[in-house]
Amino acid sequence: MNRKAIRPRNSRERQLKNKEDWNTATAIEQYWHDTNCICDLCNSEITGRHMIDGLVYGTMYEFACMCATCHHAKGSGFGEGKGQLYTRLNDGQFILTYGFTSYQLEEIGDDNDDDDLW
Ligand SMILES: [Zn+2]
Repeated sequence: MNRKAIRPRNSRERQLKNKEDWNTATAIEQYWHDTNCICDLCNSEITGRHMIDGLVYGTMYEFACMCATCHHAKGSGFGEGKGQLYTRLNDGQFILTYGFTSYQLEEIGDDNDDDDLW
């Protein structure tokens, strides 16, 4: 992938940037369906580097599109069923960079050393 993500603008975005897994992200190439994203929790347009599609802390099923600040305060972390981290590219698209689901990892054969046995 020769496209670049926008630069992190503060320490929280730099922290999240450290979680980004570009090898896996490039293999999976999962984009958010929209380039304009409003945080469901604070109703602000997400203009930073990150957007999180995740479970609201303390709820069983309430998923929200969150800005990095709200995710830090009210999210449930990252991972399957908890949160998916999306990073904004220069062209405005959000690409999934962390918190992949087991299904996605299976699709690209990550962690699938069983293949070697055959
Ligand atoms: Zn927010």
